[in-house]
Amino acid sequence: MPIGLLLVGTLAVGTKHVPLSALRVVQQAGDTPPIPTDARRDPLGTPPPAPAGVGGYRFMAHLPGRPDVPVAYDPCRPIHVVVSNASAPPGADRLVREAIREVSRATGLVFIIDGATDELPSNKRPVQDRRYGDRWSPVLVAWTTPAQDPRLRGRVAGIGGSAAGNGGGTGGPRFLTGAVSLDVPAISKILARPDGHQQARAIVMHELGHLVGLAHVPDPRELMYPKNSGQVTFGDGDLRGLHELGLGRCYFDT
Ligand SMILES: [Zn+2]
Repeated sequence: MPIGLLLVGTLAVGTKHVPLSALRVVQQAGDTPPIPTDARRDPLGTPPPAPAGVGGYRFMAHLPGRPDVPVAYDPCRPIHVVVSNASAPPGADRLVREAIREVSRATGLVFIIDGATDELPSNKRPVQDRRYGDRWSPVLVAWTTPAQDPRLRGRVAGIGGSAAGNGGGTGGPRFLTGAVSLDVPAISKILARPDGHQQARAIVMHELGHLVGLAHVPDPRELMYPKNSGQVTFGDGDLRGLHELGLGRCYFDT
């Protein structure tokens, strides 16, 4: 039974246009897992006030019939993250930590990096993977290559997205897990530039933006612009969208 859609965003490193997103169906691997022990009844954090400005934002998905209400992660539980870093460039841990901190700061969502995994990226990634126990699969951040993850072929530096489903419960759709793939050869070249760390971090932030529910916007002043325009921080439109994505509903059903 299809449980949800995996929406994959992409970021081009050059000026060539790439498809904004692709849609895939993921299958339910088993029964829904129990409510995690670190879930709470109230949000673990709240986003800061949305900034003023003129920049826009778009959501990857919205609730049925409610285009103004995005599909989001449940803010009452931490988003657990595992990292596949066998081929990671030097400084990769810091890049991921800093990018997660920016997304957490803008959304109020709490992330916990559980550690390393030997899981490889896949476009058929199960929302429940036995290797992680009786839980929704944690978010996977994978340092990888176009040979290993063909979605990174061409001028694509990274891919990010999450799988939405109702969790088998009675509540509405929310993100259950997600994945980010990062192109090590492309990002290693960027890291060799004088401003490489900031540029590489911006790619990770862009993909984490997709992960938590932001889609591309046609404005080069926003980090969710589909091409690398030199923007290295979230713009006011990005931040307003991230604010909304931090105000998702809590579901205490699975
Ligand atoms: Zn993108």
